[in-house]
Amino acid sequence: VQNPQVVTRFAPSPTGFLHIGGARTALFNWLFARHHGGKFLLRIEDTDKARSTQAAIDAILDGMHWLGLDWDGHEYYQSQFAARHAEVAHELLAKGHAYRCYATPQELEAMRAEQREKKLPMRYDGRWRDRAPGPEQEGMPFSIRLKAPKDGETVIEDKVQGRVVVQNSEIDDFILLRSDGTPTYMLAVVVDDHDMGVTHVIRGDDHLNNAFRQLGIIRAMGWPEPTYAHVPLIHGQDGAKMSKRHGATGVENYRDELGVLPEALSNYLLRLGWGHGDDEIISREDAVRWFDLDHVGRSPSRFDTKKLENL
Ligand code: GLU
Repeated sequence: VQNPQVVTRFAPSPTGFLHIGGARTALFNWLFARHHGGKFLLRIEDTDKARSTQAAIDAILDGMHWLGLDWDGHEYYQSQFAARHAEVAHELLAKGHAYRCYATPQELEAMRAEQREKKLPMRYDGRWRDRAPGPEQEGMPFSIRLKAPKDGETVIEDKVQGRVVVQNSEIDDFILLRSDGTPTYMLAVVVDDHDMGVTHVIRGDDHLNNAFRQLGIIRAMGWPEPTYAHVPLIHGQDGAKMSKRHGATGVENYRDELGVLPEALSNYLLRLGWGHGDDEIISREDAVRWFDLDHVGRSPSRFDTKKLENL
């Protein structure tokens, strides 16, 4: 079914090589967009300046080219939108959906220590939620926190996970803008997705918890809500989350060291978590024709390094 309104994105943080899990996320987003005749965007989330490197950016772009995953337009760099992120935080403040928090790092550390000791949930206790700054706060640094809903529940109808419900009492008033004026990932990702017109957020299910916080921002701004699809992470044969000790986890390892062809890796990643009958080999054209979110599996996929090494 063609739907040119569809916009997906791959939003890697350039802190390392292109992980096979990231490559699969990119592939699913690419296929979903191409299937609908929509757009697939690439956004490099380089806001963490200390951990982002040019080598990682190059590795991601190279890996995408090699896998034949072309993106529409030029790639975006999240750090370029920092002023826009701050603007939205201030808009939320002006509308009463956010507030200034003057708690010092020492004070927050003491709060956490007390929660730890009393075995309470470790989360910001909302101490500045209903408190107006006095003269002593004049000129003091503050962070901007979302005034998250406290009652009821938030429901996400996830395309892969199904209906997921979280009690709002579990969502704390998280930070949107730090006291140094930099945006948090939570804010940046929501603003960028909105501004780029992203309709479908397809990513690893390690982000499912974040989606509830992100929806809080989206609703406070009155923006359209994207459709979410949180794909189970890739695990090794032993059932643990895929990591170095399972063998090669970078796309470049398969390309440069193991001589795996891009079609073979792409086909393997596609079938890891998505199925089309018993078909073992699915051409790119057929994958574009057939790909949908309804057939993405709900349980973690097991990555068989040995099998792939022998492709
Ligand atoms: N930059 C995030 C990451 O690499 C992904 C953000 C997202 O997909 O929402 O984990």
